[in-house]
Amino acid sequence: MSVPALAISHLRKVYRGGTVAVEDISLTIPEGEFFGFLGPNGAGKSTTIHCITGIAEPTGGRIEIFGIDAVKDYREARRLVGLCPQEFNVDPFATPYQIVDWMGGYFGMTAAQRKPRLDMLMERFELGPHRKKQFRELSGGLKRRVVLARALVHDPKLIILDEPTAGVDVELRRVLWRYLAEINRDGKTILLTSHYLEEVERLCRRIAIVDKGRVAREGSKDEMAGGPGGLEQAYLVATGAEPDHVAD
Ligand code: ADP
Ligand code: MG
Repeated sequence: MSVPALAISHLRKVYRGGTVAVEDISLTIPEGEFFGFLGPNGAGKSTTIHCITGIAEPTGGRIEIFGIDAVKDYREARRLVGLCPQEFNVDPFATPYQIVDWMGGYFGMTAAQRKPRLDMLMERFELGPHRKKQFRELSGGLKRRVVLARALVHDPKLIILDEPTAGVDVELRRVLWRYLAEINRDGKTILLTSHYLEEVERLCRRIAIVDKGRVAREGSKDEMAGGPGGLEQAYLVATGAEPDHVAD
């Protein structure tokens, strides 16, 4: 069996101050998967992602990215991951080109390596006409595309997207879906967090629903969405919604 893109075993994260953000999460995502990571606000999704990408330090458990320990061998593991964070952590006065270029530099790409890669990404995400504008001037959908291009600059094998379509209008959301489907077709493994169940159903082949820092349910899209009431019902049941609140 080939090594999984992501293997999380018994992850636990307690923040200073005592908040238990992740109680106990285990997940294995094979290479090439398009994986949906769902759950209510505060369930621990972003914290899990922060532990995978070295932004937060796990309190317990183990995370391996293509077999590489995400804590002990942080730099090597991090290089394999492209992250689109939930919040825009960019210089609002920088241009799309600079933002993507700096991340390439961070990952040790030379100017000669970055130039063709940036030209390709600007073209692919239709950022060409906006490449010299300031980030703060861009619409929400364009900002998301810049952050997606930035996540891909070093050609990572695992792409993690934390609510990439929050606040993006319907049309631009469809454009993003198309990009994500293409990236997955190129062989990249994708971990997607979203509150749009339609989006998850359309894109993901496997889904985990987390609640209060634990995996409440995990299964294939067909298992999760195939029952009466579809994915929404599965989600409400897994997250402990009152039976009264669950549609027949
Ligand atoms: P989700 O992404 O699923 O909405 P988070 O991982 O952001 O959930 O948050 C899980 C819990 O951890 C919440 O109770 C949140 O308030 C808390 N939390 C998140 N980040 C921090 C932090 N940096 N310091 C302290 N508590 C945090
Ligand atoms: Mg979050």
